[in-house]
Amino acid sequence: DGDVEEATCDILVGCDGKRSVVRELAGIAFNGSHYPDTYMMGDFEDTTPFGEDAMITLHQDGLVECFPLAKGRRRWVVKTAQYVDAPTEQELKEIVAHRTGFDLRQAQCTMTSSFGVQHYIAETFAKGRVVLAGDAAHVVSPIGGQGMNLGWLDGEALAKALHAFLSTQNERHLQDYSKRQRSIARQAGKRAEWNMRLGRSFKNRWVKRWILYLFVRTPIQRVLAQLFTMQKLGAWRV
Ligand SMILES: Cc1cc2nc3c(=O)[nH]c(=O)nc-3n(C[C@H](O)[C@H](O)[C@H](O)COP(=O)(O)OP(=O)(O)OC[C@H]3O[C@@H](n4cnc5c(N)ncnc54)[C@H](O)[C@@H]3O)c2cc1C
Repeated sequence: DGDVEEATCDILVGCDGKRSVVRELAGIAFNGSHYPDTYMMGDFEDTTPFGEDAMITLHQDGLVECFPLAKGRRRWVVKTAQYVDAPTEQELKEIVAHRTGFDLRQAQCTMTSSFGVQHYIAETFAKGRVVLAGDAAHVVSPIGGQGMNLGWLDGEALAKALHAFLSTQNERHLQDYSKRQRSIARQAGKRAEWNMRLGRSFKNRWVKRWILYLFVRTPIQRVLAQLFTMQKLGAWRV
């Protein structure tokens, strides 16, 4: 409403999203760029037999993925050649049918949208007593579904760091928070980027087949699955 209020505080936590004013006023650089990838997505009544499982189709025209939502719905995400300004239910259904064979004609649609993809990371998550968390600190590709999850991990780690700081008044705890969470965010960002690359249309179909062979038919399948599903963040180097 235009009112201005002033407040003083011992610590300021900026969790005000990717356009964070806190980050900007603290003079913390936010480095990164946009990827060329674009997607369309929509939520439909779940008419698939997948239940709690997600499904990924690596079609040569681009990825299709779908995963369950609450209340018997399922989200479908498809890669598009360019950003689609006003995506329609019909377009999405046609792409899904073409790339996966799934017929969504009878499934009720509750939402469609388009999105582009970016990756950004703050140069530090703690400058003095100004601390960043969530998208204010990092933006990763949503392919991999980690943005909000990373924010929760920040929240958990920051609660401990703040407790330690308030008990000791030692800013090292905030720096430790920054170092660890920044490294986790970088790692998740890299993995999300690889997940996203796998969903691009491949010129050479054999390269993709070879990668998929590693994923499903070799002893490193388990490790690759853990990387793909973002497990062991912070515990592994990659
Ligand atoms: C298409 C898409 C799909 C995604 N899918 C997933 C997924 O499957 N899984 C996942 O984990 N993540 C996903 N994400 C990422 C996830 O949505 C974000 O990472 C998450 O919402 C970030 O939460 P946040 O609270 O840090 O920031 P935000 O959600 O941006 O919240 C910031 C809040 O701060 C408020 N604010 C900002 N400036 C001010 C101000 N000056 N004064 C007062 N209030 C202010 C805003 O109003 C907002 O409420 C997806 C993102 C996109 C774009």
